[in-house]
Amino acid sequence: MAKMELDPAMIPEAVSWCVAHGAVYALPHADAEALGEAYEVGGAFSHAPFSLAPFPWPRSEYEKVCEIQKTLCLVVDRASRDGAWLERVLIETVASDEFTANVFRVYREHPNPQPLTLGLLRSDYMLDEKDGVSRSLQVEINTIASSFACLSETISRLHRYLAAKNKSNLEELPPNAAGRGLAAGIAEAHRAYASRRSVSSPRVAMVVQPNERNQMDQRMLEHALWDDHGIPMQRVTLKELAKADTAPGKPLVLDGVEFSVVYFRAGYSPDDYPTSDEWTARGLVEASLAVKCPSAAYQLAGTKKVQQALAAPGALERFVGRSGDASAREVREVFAGLFDLDEAAPGADDAVARALDAPQAFVLKPQREGGGNNLYDADLADALRAMTPAQRAAYILMERITSKPKPGALVRNGIATAGDCVAELGVYGAFLADGPDAVLLNDVCGHLLRQKLLGVNEGGVAAGFAVLSSPALF
Ligand code: ADP
Ligand code: MG
Ligand code: MG
Repeated sequence: MAKMELDPAMIPEAVSWCVAHGAVYALPHADAEALGEAYEVGGAFSHAPFSLAPFPWPRSEYEKVCEIQKTLCLVVDRASRDGAWLERVLIETVASDEFTANVFRVYREHPNPQPLTLGLLRSDYMLDEKDGVSRSLQVEINTIASSFACLSETISRLHRYLAAKNKSNLEELPPNAAGRGLAAGIAEAHRAYASRRSVSSPRVAMVVQPNERNQMDQRMLEHALWDDHGIPMQRVTLKELAKADTAPGKPLVLDGVEFSVVYFRAGYSPDDYPTSDEWTARGLVEASLAVKCPSAAYQLAGTKKVQQALAAPGALERFVGRSGDASAREVREVFAGLFDLDEAAPGADDAVARALDAPQAFVLKPQREGGGNNLYDADLADALRAMTPAQRAAYILMERITSKPKPGALVRNGIATAGDCVAELGVYGAFLADGPDAVLLNDVCGHLLRQKLLGVNEGGVAAGFAVLSSPALF
């Protein structure tokens, strides 16, 4: 167990270490208004919120979720290629949720001609400790804009630095190459693309949101791609990509530059599509020759609805192993209770009745990403009561995961708040395939541990609920 004391004298040292090593976060937009243009060019950063000490995590649970990551990546890849299955699973969701319908339309109307598919996925887990034993249960899998790989790698190094100076046990801190691993995945896809084209200098595009607060996590990836692989990356917005020069099956070119890989750090939220231009851009990219990370199909395979459908009996076996195979069994072990709310689902009314009876035992999730969208407790019950059966199909219902809290100290803006905390572990996988049968890369490259005060329902760092931490294995 981590023996690091939560000594307040460590705070200035830890904060300066973060700033010196790039673990920084742009100030909230409201605070930065006075800076005007200086904000845009990066004039307003503070340290990223972090935990002073690593968070205890059972070694066996850490190893288990790392081990199944490759299988999960395969499942996502195969599900994304199974159009009939995707359509069947998503049909009611598409009818009731406009955003999913739009992604589905991109998928259908702008077929992806590129056989190379790149997935930079992060599967997230919490420890369920309702029954006194610790069991990893998957919260979700992110197939688009899985962020924090670089900042997480940096916070792992911060904890290693502090532990070494405190003469704590370094054995309990697992290595973390999350950022470098994602960069290597992008590089592999870029090289595979470039080797098939005769153009001299394609670039990687990173699709970003204007005014991104988590810019440095993205910049570090850009720098790793350049420093480790000599590959240039260019930041673009969806709005800019709407002007790309391309056609179905043709290269994606913007201002004379051909893009090998389009890596999305935007496009997962309805807010990323303020006008029809952004959807136009999405269609252009999808139908172009560029490697998409993710394709619309991958994005759909990462919806909460697909997660719920994969947990249904027999569904996983469609994509991995046969019934009873170790790989499917091991993956199934981490699935929490997930309930289908489709109007046509036989158990939907029953699930709703159970949730109304004990709302604190469930989470109601819409098809959204980025944190802050789920419903809990009385809000969950009120929402379920107010919905028609057709409206419910936009959501899934999930068993609530309950972790045993442990003490911690969370530092924001240089100030530590101590209290009982719970945490969520994410495992990154970089996956590259060339068509359905050739897996070129399936690498489990690192992890993210987000820690939050007990009683805070949501978990996002960007959304302000959690801070960056790392696991201390015991
Ligand atoms: P998003 O794609 O918005 O990140 P998540 O499914 O990860 O959606 O939910 C956001 C947060 O809500 C998680 O980080 C976690 O803190 C909390 N959460 C999600 N599902 C559960 C659950 N089943 N039990 C307890 N907390 C949950
Ligand atoms: Mg998500
Ligand atoms: Mg999440």
